[in-house]
Amino acid sequence: MIRAKKSLGQNFLIDDIILKQIVNCVEIEKKNILEIGPGTGNLTKYILDKKPKKVTVIEKDNNLAKDLNLRFKQKLNIINNDILNVDETSLFKDKTLVFGNLPYNISTEILSKWIINLKDNFWFENLVLMFQKEVANRIISNYNNSNYGRLSILVNWKLKVKKVCDIKPTSFNPIPKIDSSLLIFSPRENFYKIKNPKNLEKITRIFFNNRRKMIKKPYNQIFNGDQKVLEKLKLDLNLRPQNLGFDIYYKLTEEYEKLTS
Ligand code: SAH
Repeated sequence: MIRAKKSLGQNFLIDDIILKQIVNCVEIEKKNILEIGPGTGNLTKYILDKKPKKVTVIEKDNNLAKDLNLRFKQKLNIINNDILNVDETSLFKDKTLVFGNLPYNISTEILSKWIINLKDNFWFENLVLMFQKEVANRIISNYNNSNYGRLSILVNWKLKVKKVCDIKPTSFNPIPKIDSSLLIFSPRENFYKIKNPKNLEKITRIFFNNRRKMIKKPYNQIFNGDQKVLEKLKLDLNLRPQNLGFDIYYKLTEEYEKLTS
């Protein structure tokens, strides 16, 4: 019997309808697969049934990793490590499909880290990741919406994102307190050539510091009241941060990099 560890966010998916939906949202056959946090292998089984080329799993829990090794030895490459310590870019030569039902705080951290580390050639084909529903709604939000903010702007810079489905707490064991959503991400071919993603993070942090206030103050803080950037981007300083589209934030970052380089 496996006892779920709360500290590792262990809520195992046990709903066959959802498990099928997850493996059917992308083409798995003959692809390289990376699954993070495979746990008791519930999703892993479904992935293997779809005849992938090679499956690598990364599981932090020693006991679960041992158990997976006993059950799936020949079929899996098992890495018993913390995903946060793994260099994702050096794992595969070919493009990879990534699946992950990780603890929710880690999902967001990993997604941000991967985007920030991304080079021009993407190491993955798609990411299929589970989030707390509330966080998923922030990730997929468009502008002029109260969910719009730093996370959606960072993600949309390099990735396209779609919701696959919402998942009820009863689809897991043990049953979590919150609803979940499954999101699928794919690379954007054209994205703004920001030199240092930290600058995008800085600008969105300062703009969204006060989401109810007009953008006049954050703008002046970052650009020292520079009028040229204002005119070039046709920016109305009476707007609120959530009224500015994605492109405006990427352009603001590019202008900021020009001024500071
Ligand atoms: N994907 C499985 C398990 C989900 S529970 C399913 O859907 O049933 C989350 C899993 O992530 C657990 O197995 C947990 O041990 C693992 N995990 C938690 N933190 C991790 C980390 N930092 N790196 C790798 N795996 C982690």
